[in-house]
Amino acid sequence: MQQHFDVVIAGGAVMGSSIACHLAMHPGFSGSILVVEPDMSYQKSASALSAGSIRQQFSQRVNIEISLYGIGFLRAIGERLAVAGDRPDIGLREGGYLYLGGEEARPIFLENNAIQRAKGADITLLDAQGLAGEFPWLNIADLTIGSFGRSGEGWFDGYGLMQAFRAKARALGVEYRQNRVIGTSRHGPRVTSIRLDDGSEIACGFFVNAAGASGARDIVEMLGQRVAVYAKKRSVFAFSCREKLPKHPLIIDKSGVWWRPEGEGYICGFSPDDDDEIDQKDDFTVDWPLFEEIIWPALAHRIPAFESLRPGRAWAGHYDMHRLDHNAVVGRVTGFENALIACGFSGHGLQQSPAVGRGLAELIVEGRYTTLDLSDLGMERVTAGRPLRERNVI
Ligand SMILES: Cc1cc2nc3c(=O)[nH]c(=O)nc-3n(C[C@H](O)[C@H](O)[C@H](O)COP(=O)(O)OP(=O)(O)OC[C@H]3O[C@@H](n4cnc5c(N)ncnc54)[C@H](O)[C@@H]3O)c2cc1C
Repeated sequence: MQQHFDVVIAGGAVMGSSIACHLAMHPGFSGSILVVEPDMSYQKSASALSAGSIRQQFSQRVNIEISLYGIGFLRAIGERLAVAGDRPDIGLREGGYLYLGGEEARPIFLENNAIQRAKGADITLLDAQGLAGEFPWLNIADLTIGSFGRSGEGWFDGYGLMQAFRAKARALGVEYRQNRVIGTSRHGPRVTSIRLDDGSEIACGFFVNAAGASGARDIVEMLGQRVAVYAKKRSVFAFSCREKLPKHPLIIDKSGVWWRPEGEGYICGFSPDDDDEIDQKDDFTVDWPLFEEIIWPALAHRIPAFESLRPGRAWAGHYDMHRLDHNAVVGRVTGFENALIACGFSGHGLQQSPAVGRGLAELIVEGRYTTLDLSDLGMERVTAGRPLRERNVI
């Protein structure tokens, strides 16, 4: 006999697990939930390979609101996701983000700052002297402006966040099954069942696609729709420095190189301006020339103490880059009443997982967003080819 679940979720990393967890915690939901995940080790999932950081410094209202909710959630994660008195600890450090710019960046910094402050984000603009005063170890020779988050921004254990959602979801009765979604069946505007790699077919009340850079696009295509979400390789490099640099935030240099403290050392990476290139889904080789040729020179230029840094380990993961506008696609799949999607986070999905999980749980149980309105991220804009461009992509 065919099995039935009220909600089936494809992808059991941070997004799938947050959606499952929020659904199971929703007072109006008492149904069954199945999460289908092909790799329970999560070795290649972005959720396990990220830089684990959260910021309010976005250019789009909806992203700022999502992260304001996100930081509150992360601060209280011990109570929110406790299982049998066991409180998860994700090591949240609110060290702030510091964006650095020259004169050409001033109008954009001013415009973004007005939006961020209007939404209640604690972001301050600093001139060159202000930067030198707060961060005396910084080379300010070619800087005229900085944008600094005094609270609400920082970093945490991203893998720990995913595991905390997963543990809470399982404790609340969510079933995780090691398998892969390979097909769907529909009747009019409804998905009626999904097909797994082992040949089994599972009937569902709702179906959610949270299959990330490696799977979300293919699953949308199974539903006869399209989203331009592609894997984009990002290498992350660890390094150490003998000199202590007090009060060091996550820095996004005007060169596009970013770095932040991690334990006793640092991690860093590079975000090119033009990110439309498509990478192979199975390419996880670290781009070492990037460190040698672009990142290290930029680090040494900005902080003279980094000239004698010691490179450490490195890894590569995949952004689920949404080529239309570098913003997530969240909500109902066009043409369906009971198929939902959460993908295309373009490098900021970890911090968005609390708000997106809560939002999709509301859509399923209450038929609409009842707390934070996420409809700006809806698939309607994708189908209409109407971008909601995010300017602050790292
Ligand atoms: C190097 C790097 C740095 C990052 N830094 C940050 C950061 O600082 N802050 C931040 O907020 N975000 C960051 N991100 C982005 C963040 O990690 C992702 O946006 C987020 O993890 C996406 O979560 P997800 O669950 O949607 O996708 P994933 O973690 O990729 O999980 C998708 C899951 O779906 C599964 N799957 C695939 N196909 C199928 C199928 N057919 N059926 C069932 N399951 C399937 C996969 O096995 C996978 O486990 C970073 C990402 C990378 C790569």
